[in-house]
Amino acid sequence: MAIERTLSIIKPDATKRNLTGKINAKFEEAGLRIVAQKRIQLTMDQAGKFYEVHKERPFYGELCEFMASEPVVVQVLEGEGAIAKNREVMGATNPAEADEGTIRKEYALSVGENSVHGSDAPETAAEEISFFFSGLEIVG
Ligand code: ADP
Ligand code: MG
Repeated sequence: MAIERTLSIIKPDATKRNLTGKINAKFEEAGLRIVAQKRIQLTMDQAGKFYEVHKERPFYGELCEFMASEPVVVQVLEGEGAIAKNREVMGATNPAEADEGTIRKEYALSVGENSVHGSDAPETAAEEISFFFSGLEIVG
């Protein structure tokens, strides 16, 4: 399988509870390398733009407010099949449905406040990485 890069976000519910290191350990244990990382606080505008694909969904407003409510850690993860591997380590969107040992099973508070974001396909990964990082900020 090819080496891929994917965009990950440690969400406000997790940064607030000081879980950045524990979540990063899950990525690294799964063989994903953190090749770029920064802690930022999104504006409502930036959160709205990032999640534009969901703008017709009933939870869009709540999601954007949540994402702008506290700092997030945005990161680029690299590894073999990184996009699918990261989704596996994250677990299902709804923590009640997430497998044992996944980040969402262990740490998520609810379907909305679910601790992590991960890109879902090569095209979205490329778009989402360039939303937050310039090429110079990614060191593999
Ligand atoms: P994922 O993050 O697993 O790719 P989606 O892309 O479907 O999930 O949704 C994006 C984010 O929107 C979720 O991670 C979650 O924070 C939020 N969300 C999804 N479904 C709901 C819901 N039913 N109620 C509230 N928030 C939701
Ligand atoms: Mg998604």
